[in-house]
Amino acid sequence: MGQTTLFTREQIDNRVTEMGRQISTDFAGTEMIALCVLKGAVFFCADLVRQVSLDVALDFVQVSSYGNQKYSSGVVTILKEPQLDMRGKAVLIVEDIIDSGLSMREVFNYIEGRGASKVKTATFLDKPKARKVPFHADYVGFTIEPQFVVGYGLDFAEKYRNIPEVQVLSD
Ligand code: 5GP
Ligand code: MG
Repeated sequence: MGQTTLFTREQIDNRVTEMGRQISTDFAGTEMIALCVLKGAVFFCADLVRQVSLDVALDFVQVSSYGNQKYSSGVVTILKEPQLDMRGKAVLIVEDIIDSGLSMREVFNYIEGRGASKVKTATFLDKPKARKVPFHADYVGFTIEPQFVVGYGLDFAEKYRNIPEVQVLSD
């Protein structure tokens, strides 16, 4: 298995800083909740909220998609529910990567049903060519080709999450 760098620490930092600035502008005047999708978005979310110059409440949701490691099966279930009351709040769902779109569609619909006044989505990476269902994120870090990436929270069988940069995993 080989790994090549796709995004360096510096590229990631610069982009996340830009996203934080944009989100600070767009969410000004709201009661904001950043909802981190476990586990992959943990690093991105931690970096992103520290670039948001507003009061941000933090919560977590975990979804599971059953299947093998590199391709999801399409069956998405909520494994861990958020704890905060979302009624009247502006929720930003923070995800690591959107591939088929199935996970984000599920999380988005689930959160919309909890009475938030606004639900927006931020994804660190987006693979629009891999969609099985249409899904458009409001904030996208980087758009990439349909390839399997690891690092900065993204794993392969729970490995490589702690690699600071983003790498392409090839077999
Ligand atoms: P989707 O439901 O959009 O097909 O997939 C979303 C989830 O699949 C992501 O949150 C992530 O956990 C996983 N995933 C999709 N593509 C990749 C990838 O290139 N690398 C890694 N490590 N995980 C991925
Ligand atoms: Mg994920």
